[in-house]
Amino acid sequence: EKFKDGLSKTRDNFTSKVNDLVARYRKVDEDFFEELEEILIGADVGFETVMELIDELKLEVKRKNIQETKELQSVISEKLVEIYHGDEGHSNSLNIQSEGLTVILMVGVNGVGKTTTIGKMAHMFNSEGKKVLLAAGDTFRAGAIEQLEVWGERVGVDVIKQGAGSDPAAVMYDAIQSARARKADVLLCDTAGRLQNKVNLMNELEKVKRVIEREIPGAPHEVLLVLDATTGQNAMIQAKTFKEATNVSGIVLTKLDGTAKGGIVLAIRNELKIPVKYVGLGEGMDDLQPFDAEKYVYGLFS
Ligand code: GDP
Repeated sequence: EKFKDGLSKTRDNFTSKVNDLVARYRKVDEDFFEELEEILIGADVGFETVMELIDELKLEVKRKNIQETKELQSVISEKLVEIYHGDEGHSNSLNIQSEGLTVILMVGVNGVGKTTTIGKMAHMFNSEGKKVLLAAGDTFRAGAIEQLEVWGERVGVDVIKQGAGSDPAAVMYDAIQSARARKADVLLCDTAGRLQNKVNLMNELEKVKRVIEREIPGAPHEVLLVLDATTGQNAMIQAKTFKEATNVSGIVLTKLDGTAKGGIVLAIRNELKIPVKYVGLGEGMDDLQPFDAEKYVYGLFS
């Protein structure tokens, strides 16, 4: 239900337009496809992905000799899910170690909802009975450490921190030692989110990752990029930049509740080949959901 509510803006926008289109055209023709293309691009599905979808739909129309636009409605959903899953299939599960410490690195630019997402994830793991620790690795932005502490208190997990301006790699080292001493299951690491200088970003992330790798072979077990769905194509650019800077294992797409352009999920997955693992559907600690393409696409049309 929460998932459906969170998508209401996208659903209202997208579904009403598609329904209206289907009603207006009745018969499938070139103009119908052109208008469908515009609706999809308007929903931020992304140009490449839209072209791929339209081609697939046209093939299907030929193959099944579809003439009525009504018949095409369910095919659109099917194809959207297929495109999302891709050839390699899709898993939204996190690489959680069955024994010992799991380290999750959270990356993303300021304002996208990184701190909130860390809080929500801490709450999620906590509710599963896991012992969680947070690492205040954003030592650059004023207020970042305090903001993480507010979430730590709210959720009831400790935050490992040093002073503002300290070396993030040193914070990570400390946090890993603490996590070991306390026998924590999950360490969620915040990082600085400046993107003004790609070389700096890369160097800092690499340094942080090196410390983690040295301490725990195979870690970090996830590098999750947090993106703000309301920023549309900007989110795509951020994803490309971070993908070049480090190996991102998954995406958390926040503020999906605040946009009518939820098609960005498909563009990210299809064009960047990074799975969207979780979506943020509100500001509360329970407003984080694993992303399920089928539920999502069919939710748009129901
Ligand atoms: P950070 O700078 O990346 O750490 O961003 P914050 O975690 O401080 O979030 C920025 C703002 O976005 C805050 O006002 C959050 O409450 C809000 N926010 C974060 N995630 C979501 C979400 O999924 N939905 C909505 N509606 N707001 C969100």
